[in-house]
Amino acid sequence: MHLPRFPRERFAHLPTPLEPMSNLSKLLGGPNLWIKRDDCTGLAGGGNKTRKLEFLMGDAVAQGADTIITQGATQSNHARQTAAIAAKMGMECRLLLEDRTGNEGVDYNYNGNVLMDQLYGASLSKYPADTDMNEAMDTLAEKLRAAGKFPYIIPGGGSNPVGALGYVNAALELLMQANDSGIRIDHVVHATGSTGTQAGLVTGLVASNSQIPVLGISVRAPRETQETNVFRLAQNTAEYLGCPNVVKRQDVVANGDYVGDGYGIPTKNGIDAIKLFARHESILLDPVYSGKGAAGLVDLIRRGYFKSHDNVVFLHTGGSQALYGYREAFDFPSYS
Ligand SMILES: *Cc1c(COP(=O)(O)O)cnc(C)c1O
Repeated sequence: MHLPRFPRERFAHLPTPLEPMSNLSKLLGGPNLWIKRDDCTGLAGGGNKTRKLEFLMGDAVAQGADTIITQGATQSNHARQTAAIAAKMGMECRLLLEDRTGNEGVDYNYNGNVLMDQLYGASLSKYPADTDMNEAMDTLAEKLRAAGKFPYIIPGGGSNPVGALGYVNAALELLMQANDSGIRIDHVVHATGSTGTQAGLVTGLVASNSQIPVLGISVRAPRETQETNVFRLAQNTAEYLGCPNVVKRQDVVANGDYVGDGYGIPTKNGIDAIKLFARHESILLDPVYSGKGAAGLVDLIRRGYFKSHDNVVFLHTGGSQALYGYREAFDFPSYS
């Protein structure tokens, strides 16, 4: 496993900080909570997609692309980070946004990530829920090719073996930081969606024989489906890296208990977790991903899932830019 063999553009602010959350650790009565700040990767306000995009854009450049096509939900953080790096690299960016929530609010459709997509100069188009988005991207790519362009398709969330390399790299970075500061990591917990983050992390942590378990809190699929999908991508990533079969099925663990009514629909415990992290750690989460991930973390702590002396690292995958699209999910009183 040697990452410099793969093309990569460098724009993420790395390494991201690994910080203690001493207030929350005390408030919840242990374990020792740490936070890996991948909300601070720099590009477009940061987030986990930036690490994946370093390898994806490296591949796009190697293939001679001049236009980037990708897809996501209306408030996609992946779309925002892709739009930003396409602008910086002088490429055209086409974002296909799937209306997964049916939210017709002005904030949801035009504020938050969408406002930033437009600021970065991307072209946006809207598709109804349950559209075959891969097919829609292929159709657009065909059209662009016929017009003499060189499109490069990035799958939703940047989740394929190329993008997952960003999280293989994050695993190595985390191990190095923990080693340098003498922190024994007992668990890593994070929100999992399109699977690239967990697949890359697990591949990196297993291939280096760290024996650190990763728990993915699902934001969309039930546990079994999520584990199957993460495992498939982890296997493909390991093969792409040149260490096939290194990841075993039991290395992939997800929890589907915190999805609530569905992808992109806020949950009460997710909103509570956002408030908890803001008030006690000054950390901003979001209602779609990191808030649900944190809700899982907090609930599992209360249920005794971790030992009180464990060191648990919450990987902050970003997303706070979506808060502006979800203002109505918060019940704050008016003031005068
Ligand atoms: C995309 C995203 C995730 C999920 O990562 P995947 O690699 O898609 O599983 C988690 N948190 C935030 C904020 C995201 O934007």
